[in-house]
Amino acid sequence: MKNTKELRTWLDDMKLDHPLVIAGPCSAETEEQVLKIAHELKDSDVNYFRAGIWKPRTRPGNFEGVGALGLGWLKKVKEQTGMKTCTEVANAAHVKLALENDVDLLWIGARSTVSPFIMQEIADALEGTDKIVLVKNPVNPDLALWLGGIERLYTAGIKNLGAIHRGFSTYEKSKYRNIPEWQLAIEFQNKFPDLPLICDPSHITGNREMIFDVSQTALDLNFDGLMIETHFDPDNAWSDAAQQVTPTKLKQIMEDLKIRKETETDSGYRDSLDNLRAQINVIDGQLIEMLGKRMGVADKIGELKKEKNVAVLQSRRWNEILGNMILEGESRGLSEEFVLKMFKAIHQESINHQEKIIKG
Ligand code: PEP
Ligand code: MN
Repeated sequence: MKNTKELRTWLDDMKLDHPLVIAGPCSAETEEQVLKIAHELKDSDVNYFRAGIWKPRTRPGNFEGVGALGLGWLKKVKEQTGMKTCTEVANAAHVKLALENDVDLLWIGARSTVSPFIMQEIADALEGTDKIVLVKNPVNPDLALWLGGIERLYTAGIKNLGAIHRGFSTYEKSKYRNIPEWQLAIEFQNKFPDLPLICDPSHITGNREMIFDVSQTALDLNFDGLMIETHFDPDNAWSDAAQQVTPTKLKQIMEDLKIRKETETDSGYRDSLDNLRAQINVIDGQLIEMLGKRMGVADKIGELKKEKNVAVLQSRRWNEILGNMILEGESRGLSEEFVLKMFKAIHQESINHQEKIIKG
C-alpha cells in the first residue's frame, strides 16, 4: 500500500466536526425494531446506521440473523431517515447481495479477518467497488493478519478503506469481553497513519457501563470514529444484550466525550507536551538499561545453576518476587494486572536466557 493518504479521502470528504459515528443494533431483528432504532438515531451525530443481518455466533442454536430479508429494511432506513447504512459481510454471496441492495459501507468481522481464504474471497467479490470497506481486527492479537486482510482489499482495487479495533479474545479472565491491547492499535496507527481507524467499544467491553471510558481512551489516542451498538430495549436484544445502549444514552455519550484535536497550535501547550514527551523518552531509555542489567544478573544465576545442575524454574522464588512487586506496584499506582503482565514477560525472558546458558 503506497499512497495511504488516498485511503482516507472518503472520511476527509465528509468534513465532520466530530468523530465518525456508526450506531445501530447488533442484529436486525424485525423491520419494526430496525426502523424504530433508526428513527431514534436520526437527529444525532450518527453517520452510518449499522445492523448485522448475517450473525457469526460462537455456538450453533443461537439467533443467526434474519439474512437477506434485512437488506430491504436497511433500504427503508435510508429512505426514511437519510442515514447511510452498513452491515457485516462474511462471504462472496453476502457481498453480492449487499452491493445489489446498495448498502453504503460493509465491514468484515473479526471471525473473518482471521482467515486469509475468506478475506481473499471477500476481496475478489468486492473487486473495484467504491463502497467503503472496514476491516475489524482478527480475534487474536495478530497485527500482520489484520494488515494482510486490508492489503488483500487494497490489491483488489478497493480504495475507500478503514479498520475497526474491537479488541482481542484471551483465555485469561479480564474485565473486558475482548481486551483492547491499545499498544497494538498504536502500532497499527504507526504503520498506516492515514488509514481511518474506528474503535468498537461495544465488543471490547461487552458491557454498556464501560463504553464511555473506552470511547474516550480511543479518542485520546486519535481514533477517527466509534462504532457503538444501540437498541431501544438493550436487555431484550436478540444478541449482545449486555453491551448495547439506548439511542438516548448514545447521544449522551457523544455529548460527554472530549474530542481532542491531533494538532494544537497553542505554543505553550506544544512546549509542555514536547517537554513531557522528552521526559518519557529518557525514562524509557532507563527502563531498557535496567532490564539489560537485570538480564545480566539472571545470566550469572544461570551459570551457577548449570554448575550445580539445578532446574531453571523455581516457582516458590518466583511467587515471592511477584507478591512483593504487586505490593510495591500498588503503592505507586500500578495495577496488579499490569505488574503481573510485565513481570511475566521479564521472567520469560530470564528463563530463555538461562535455558540457553544451561543447554550451552
Ligand atoms: C458485530 O459487529 O456485531 C460483530 C459480530 O462483531 P465482531 O466481528 O467484532 O465480533
Ligand atoms: Mn454484536
